[in-house]
Amino acid sequence: MTAAPLIQGWCPGALRPMASGDGLVVRVRPHAGRLSPAQAAGIAAAARLHGNGLIDLSARGNVQLRGVRPDTHAPLIADLSALGLIDRDLAGETRRNITVSPFAQADALALALEDALAAAPDLPGKFGFALDVAASRWLDAAPGDVRIERGASGGLILRADGLPTGRPVTLAEAPALAVDMAHWFVAAGGVIQGRGRMAALVARGVRPPESLTGAEPPAPALPRPGPGLFAEGALVALAFGQMQAATLEALAATCHDLRLTPWRMLLLEGAVALPTIAGLITDPQDPALRVIACTGAPACPQALAATRSLALQLAPLVPQDGTLHVSGCAKGCAHPAPAPLTLTATATGFAVIRNGRASAPGPVIAPADLPTLLTGTP
Ligand code: SF4
Repeated sequence: MTAAPLIQGWCPGALRPMASGDGLVVRVRPHAGRLSPAQAAGIAAAARLHGNGLIDLSARGNVQLRGVRPDTHAPLIADLSALGLIDRDLAGETRRNITVSPFAQADALALALEDALAAAPDLPGKFGFALDVAASRWLDAAPGDVRIERGASGGLILRADGLPTGRPVTLAEAPALAVDMAHWFVAAGGVIQGRGRMAALVARGVRPPESLTGAEPPAPALPRPGPGLFAEGALVALAFGQMQAATLEALAATCHDLRLTPWRMLLLEGAVALPTIAGLITDPQDPALRVIACTGAPACPQALAATRSLALQLAPLVPQDGTLHVSGCAKGCAHPAPAPLTLTATATGFAVIRNGRASAPGPVIAPADLPTLLTGTP
């Protein structure tokens, strides 16, 4: 049996940080999913000064500073405000939940949507918008309740998550229609006890009005990319999406804008060579890319075991095309979706779950037996 996790139902922000075992977690939402070199250097300095120097990349393309203390939170917000990274109020910060394709030049669209969101209703903390508008679609597996995407015909479509098709839209009309979709979601009963997601509402058979639906399918989706060189720049990864402030400082010193991604990677926009910076993963075959693990013990108070050290120990045993998810409890923060193999910490060992989520039941085995489980040899 796995322990029942505490479900918060909201994500940390900058103005509403979340307590963790290593202090406050402060999540920054860069505008249009982009950090200038000056912003990146400023975040690194702030992480050292006001936190414990650890910086996470989130699955929504945000940046988290860890180990912030209650007495350093206010000066941290002042520093981040000076970098143009803080919203005027908590309501604005909560609504501004936008994931942008790192391969798209979508700053104008993202900023127009931010403006339009001032007229949005109160939305559940995890409700968000995906802008998947590059020539190819990259965000198919990324969260996004209201999606503005590349359509099969090459234009843009507006699509409610969970529906197979969307309504063709122009760049100019898309932001207001996305907000209309959010209003419809609330009016249609999508929010229950403060929570709710578009796909769940659609799965209940509820459909948006004709003005917000259409028959155009999205363009084919591309799989999650690995680190390497792309026409748009150099994509680099970090073990578990976490880095030291020094790594971000070194990235800032390359003078490239950093594009945040939902894959816990960074795109150095315009770079024509992979950087050689300690702490970065640039080899797509690196075993660390085959494992996913949450913060785990001791930094997360809900964790029943350490996760990342175990995941790194097991990583070389995971097949090259495989994925192992190690979760410190049944909540499965690092990977809410099913994985080929998940190990969920319990009070007595790790539950072994195949093709399921971290909360699924599975036989519990001792940590010492895990390498044998992966190699299949005693
Ligand atoms: S999944 Fe990991 S990070 Fe999330 S609550 Fe459980 S132990 Fe903590």
